[in-house]
Amino acid sequence: MSRTLPNIIITGTPGVGKTSHCELLAERTGLRHVSINQIVKDRECHEGWDKEYESWIVDEDKLLDAIEDDAKKGGCILDWHACDLFPKSWIDLVVVLRVGSATLYDRLKLRNYPEIKLQENIDSEIMDVLYQEALESYDAEIVVDLQSNTSEDMDANLDRIEAWLKQWKEDNAQAT
Ligand code: ADP
Repeated sequence: MSRTLPNIIITGTPGVGKTSHCELLAERTGLRHVSINQIVKDRECHEGWDKEYESWIVDEDKLLDAIEDDAKKGGCILDWHACDLFPKSWIDLVVVLRVGSATLYDRLKLRNYPEIKLQENIDSEIMDVLYQEALESYDAEIVVDLQSNTSEDMDANLDRIEAWLKQWKEDNAQAT
């Protein structure tokens, strides 16, 4: 099925800057910021609250049903700390944001994460878990990892994604 606008996943360990990037990217491009966190909460795509991790236990089937129509139309920026659940056919670009562990520690500390969750997220970032998950779930050509340590990084990332979007539109206009 062809889309007139692409779907982009912005993923990475909690605290890398997904929401900040998605909000600015949506402003700059007119694409829609789809906060999976928000959808899980608002549309009750979960099986309850995990008290230890202080997060929802996501019902992936329900979540995919909730976003399927939008994803098939295209123009979504999917904001989520996992990416392996979205069907390959929906996705045109996967951006994995990366950050140094000391910076991540500071950002998560500010959120008052429980110690167990904080440590697991730092380990996950150090061990490239989200980047590996992206490479296992999608073709390597559509996966890109970008640094998100500073606001200069963020500006450069947004420029780069915008340039990619412009190219995608040109390529796909020719195809139709
Ligand atoms: P996520 O959605 O991945 O959990 P957020 O976008 O909520 O991350 O960012 C977490 C915190 O880090 C926020 O306070 C945000 O302002 C800050 N932040 C995110 N990315 C950057 C960056 N590239 N440079 C500086 N601060 C950043």
